[in-house]
This record gives sequence, C-alpha cells and structure tokens, in this order.
Amino acid sequence: MKSKRTISIKDPQLRIVRNNLRSIIISAASVKKSESLKAENNDESMFWEIERPLRTSILLCSACFQSDKNMNYNPVRRIWYHTEWYEVLKKGNEKRGTPEELY
Ligand SMILES: [Zn+2]
Repeated sequence: MKSKRTISIKDPQLRIVRNNLRSIIISAASVKKSESLKAENNDESMFWEIERPLRTSILLCSACFQSDKNMNYNPVRRIWYHTEWYEVLKKGNEKRGTPEELY
C-alpha cells in the first residue's frame, strides 16, 4: 500500500507558480465542463470524465475545494486534503479511534 504523503512548497514564489498552474488547469477544466453541458452537447458523461479526476487530483482539496494550499494524500481514500484540514481530521479521528489509514 502506498503511504500517506505531504506535498509542501515553502518558497513563496514557487507557491505562486504552483497556484497559477493549478488555476490554469482548473479554468480549462471549467470551460470543458461548461461546453459539455451546453444544450447542443448536453453530455453528462463528458462532464464527469473531467470532474471525477479533478476531484481526486492534487489540484483541489477534497474537503473544501481550495486550490492554493499544500496538500496531504490519503492512499486508501485516494484523495487530497489541504494540510491544515488534514491536521483537523487527524485530531478528530484520533479521538474517535479511527484507524489511521482511513483519514
Ligand atoms: Zn481543504
């Protein structure tokens, strides 16, 4: 099993580059999603072909959809959380005794 990992960029200028690249990709995906749902296309499967991988990608936090944060990966759930949210999840789950691989 893959282990949990954190992708963290500390350099402020590199964060700007990362955030801009994420924004460009998310914007392009939004345009494609809009096109897929226009009346002449109305292709919901195309919408989900774009939306599904976007939701599980490092581009967006799975909990709050922010895209300008450092991210933590959960290999069991195959999703990314922004680091601050992950710490909140971790504390709550530790109190409840949830197995670590689930959060
Ligand atoms: Zn988040």
